[in-house]
Amino acid sequence: MESTREIPEKLVIRPPSEYRSLLVRLTRGCRWNRCRFCGLYPHLGEPAFSKRTVAAVKHDIDLLGRRGVASDTVFFGDADPLQIGLEEFVEIARYLRQVLPVKRLTAYARASTLWKLKGDGIKRLASAGLDRVHIGLESGDAATLRFHRKGQSPKMVMETAAWLKEAGIEISFYVLLGLGGRDRWQQHIHGTARVINSTVPDFVRIRRLWLYRGDSFWGGPECPLFKEIRQGTFTPQTSEGTVLELQLLLESLESGLSTMLLCDHRNNYVQVAGVIRDDRQEMLAAVKDFLILPAAEREKHYAAVGSGI
Ligand code: SF4
Repeated sequence: MESTREIPEKLVIRPPSEYRSLLVRLTRGCRWNRCRFCGLYPHLGEPAFSKRTVAAVKHDIDLLGRRGVASDTVFFGDADPLQIGLEEFVEIARYLRQVLPVKRLTAYARASTLWKLKGDGIKRLASAGLDRVHIGLESGDAATLRFHRKGQSPKMVMETAAWLKEAGIEISFYVLLGLGGRDRWQQHIHGTARVINSTVPDFVRIRRLWLYRGDSFWGGPECPLFKEIRQGTFTPQTSEGTVLELQLLLESLESGLSTMLLCDHRNNYVQVAGVIRDDRQEMLAAVKDFLILPAAEREKHYAAVGSGI
């Protein structure tokens, strides 16, 4: 019986920014599991999707409460915990706030799942105490999203963002440098800037596309994008190209945005962070300073950063 466990069930991954948070698992794996650039859950040992029962999740929350844990922030996973169902999610969020002194509740969420809830469903999430959602925007370019089978369009993301803002839920977007490959990188970045400029999310978190192999430490299947690379339908961006993408993104964002942009993952070759409105020029200067380093030094840096989860 799941509800007799003595330790809470663990998530597969969480955002780096949630490193201090209590982690509560509502679903296992990713129900969608089709994005060509991802495949991470199968790779990390969770190939199938399943929902946990409300009773099992409440039991985990009780365990966290009994431990007297110090953190006052909580994160719900795995990939798209709203797949447990709106009523179930609301019931769990309310229960969590009764049992633990929570100051901030966040969750991963697919834009397409939120979009199906429309404004009314999203308001219910807010009233149950959801403060922030981590959404994989990945790209704002419709063709790039289609190629990667992300299952969302820029329009869908923009509508969803408007409902989230209306409900008072913070938006944290993930953007993947390199997702357009070498052939579509400018459209990828221009489309992404368009979505950010029109939605003004609270956070934009920059990542770099990571093509992991099947012989990695975790031993799961390789990144599905390798198939496209072998077939010649996707040409990976160069290391330097991803830095140029970051530069173009910073140049393309409107200067008055209150959005916080962060490169808060170790895969990023250039780490910048700041509020666009206040720090854009400084962040751009950091990227340009890197790009004028001698070529050999830049190459050495790319090799040293490498890739990892
Ligand atoms: S990117 Fe997100 S939605 Fe797509 S397969 Fe990976 S975890 Fe699932």
